[in-house]
Formats: sequence, C-alpha cells, structure tokens
Amino acid sequence: MTSTVLRKEESTLGGSSQFAQCKTSERLDQAFPSVRIAPLFYEFLGRYNDWRQAKLQVMIGSILVLCLGLFALIMPWFLPKVGVWISLVIFILFFFALRYYIVVNERASHLYINVYVLHHHLIGKLEVGFCDHHEPCHCVEDFRGYVLKNYKISFESGSIR
Ligand SMILES: [Zn+2]
Repeated sequence: MTSTVLRKEESTLGGSSQFAQCKTSERLDQAFPSVRIAPLFYEFLGRYNDWRQAKLQVMIGSILVLCLGLFALIMPWFLPKVGVWISLVIFILFFFALRYYIVVNERASHLYINVYVLHHHLIGKLEVGFCDHHEPCHCVEDFRGYVLKNYKISFESGSIR
C-alpha cells in the first residue's frame, strides 16, 4: 500500500534527482509509517527544490547585475577613447540581466510562500502525530531526523531557509 502511493508520487514529481536516489531505498518506507504524510512531504519537497533552484538563479542574477553595472560605469576610465561605446553595450546587457533578476526574484518569492505554507502544514501534521500507532512511539522523531539528515530540512521550528 505504501509503495503504490509513493510510486504514484514519483511519477508526478519526476524532476527531483534527490527523490530518484531514495526511491529504491528501504529507509524511505521506514521514514513513513503512515501513507498520509508521504504525498504531502513529496509535494513540499518538489516545491522546496524548485525554490532552492530559484534562489540560486536570484544569486546569479544579482551578481550579473552588479558586475555589468560596475563594468559599464568604470569602462570609460580604463579606455577613454572607446570605453563609452563598450559601456553602452555592457549597459544593454545590464538591462537584460536586470530583467532576468526581476523575473527570477518574483518566482523565488512566490515559491517561498508556497514552501512556507507547506512547511507549516507539515509541522502541524507532525505535532498531532501522523502514524497509526496507539502506544507512544518515535515515528515523528524518526521522520524529523530522516529529513534533517537526508535533505537538511528542519521540521523543528516554524522558519525555513
Ligand atoms: Zn508511530
């Protein structure tokens, strides 16, 4: 039962390489004593990976904007005769970089809201307990440990980085 649900999730979130790594892992089944948490977790993981990727694009975009802006400004000093024309070309590139930065930054913000909501939703599920055991157990602690170890994501506090 668990494996069929997980397999269904795999096909919907095929893009994640981390996910592909653990699909044959036995630890995966151990980490999810309840099938209810798995679809939610993989939805979260998919968005989380998208968000991390978007954050990287934002970082690259900001570096490009800074470098191109700086080059456009200092070029006339280094090459007094042709520097202005090179500056103009760099400035056009700067404009495209700025546009790229604005687009990816907006995407990253949208994804962050998504990830934040799903993260809170998962923490809520963990707080009420997500397994089918009636006696006290370590399922929630095991799951938190598993996610922290394998994905470096903490489900302890309300914030996510
Ligand atoms: Zn349990």
